[in-house]
Amino acid sequence: MTTLLHNVGELITNDPAADDLLGVVTDAALVIDDGRVAWVGPSAAAPSADEAIDCDGAAVMPGFVDSHAHLVFAGDRSAEFAARMAGQLYAAGGIRTTVAATRAASDEELRARVAHLVGELERQGSTTYEIKSGYGLTTPDEARSLRIAAEFTDETTFLGAHVVPPEYDGDRSGYVDLVCGDMLTACAPHARWADVFCDRGAFDADETTAILTAAQGRGLMPRVHANQLEQGPGVAVAVAQGAASADHCTHLSDADVALLADSDTVATLLPGAEFSTRSPYPDARRLIDAGVTVALATDCNPGSSYTTSMPFCITVGVRDMHFTVAEALWSATAGGAAALRRTDVGGLTPGQRADLMILDAPSALHLAYRPGVDLIAQVWREGKRIR
Ligand SMILES: [Zn+2]
Repeated sequence: MTTLLHNVGELITNDPAADDLLGVVTDAALVIDDGRVAWVGPSAAAPSADEAIDCDGAAVMPGFVDSHAHLVFAGDRSAEFAARMAGQLYAAGGIRTTVAATRAASDEELRARVAHLVGELERQGSTTYEIKSGYGLTTPDEARSLRIAAEFTDETTFLGAHVVPPEYDGDRSGYVDLVCGDMLTACAPHARWADVFCDRGAFDADETTAILTAAQGRGLMPRVHANQLEQGPGVAVAVAQGAASADHCTHLSDADVALLADSDTVATLLPGAEFSTRSPYPDARRLIDAGVTVALATDCNPGSSYTTSMPFCITVGVRDMHFTVAEALWSATAGGAAALRRTDVGGLTPGQRADLMILDAPSALHLAYRPGVDLIAQVWREGKRIR
């Protein structure tokens, strides 16, 4: 069964061989065969297919790849957001509120929450998403968080090292030993990645190195929450560990930028976090100009960034972090794929997965140009319409 999308006003392919960043084809068509892109080119030259869909001049682009999301949790922290907007500062310790609610929730409740958020992600164009644990912080609660996450995505991340839970106050090393030991043993079968919140109030460089080294010993690949709250050691540790991604990168020294530029560690920027904590934004321009590969992601979580909207992140990235629109679109698709070390998603060249959006707009520029407007008309994954 082949499907032809034709009369596409603007098709973004992210073809690395193209002259422009986004590999744009105008007046384009695309053929899907067995869930994969089979052909891309001018609409006038399109081959025939079993089924044809007239896109009526609309833009078509790859589905978003949201490489950073915390979706397994219970509870509500809207009052904390309101208090912060009224002047309170954000600190990593707020995570403990969600930990208590998550531990008290049933599997069914957690699963329903994840399903709801995944529905939001997909409606807004995300066709690949990472889901982290990190609100259980006991061996059984972390393991069940990852079991539930794995029902929704292959990109599951063990974040037992989110914060030190209250029962380990005064015994940090005891908690790090648990994360590296029994907790890792229980979680590794359900996770592809391991992540550590390496920042003020969370874990230091030595703890992060110990946890990521143990996790790599169990076959998990590393990623790091780095340099969100201060110019700390997170980026250096991430690069030293060969992490796929250093996430946040809000406070960077020139040495951090140079380390990222000389590595294949992606800098994943999370504008929802700065937006929702009214904090200074990371400087995408500085990173891109230095040659760093940059991704954009939602950081969807109940404390510091409760958004599932990649279009929102693109808008803020362009407006306040000095991405060009094209760069922001690339970072939200191909950049996210690089942060997950994936080559089958994040673009629409022959052989890649037919994960795409049909926009209610003639060009994808409108995603930044029309803030807050729902422009995602259709979402397809592996050649099938899902929204
Ligand atoms: Zn996060």
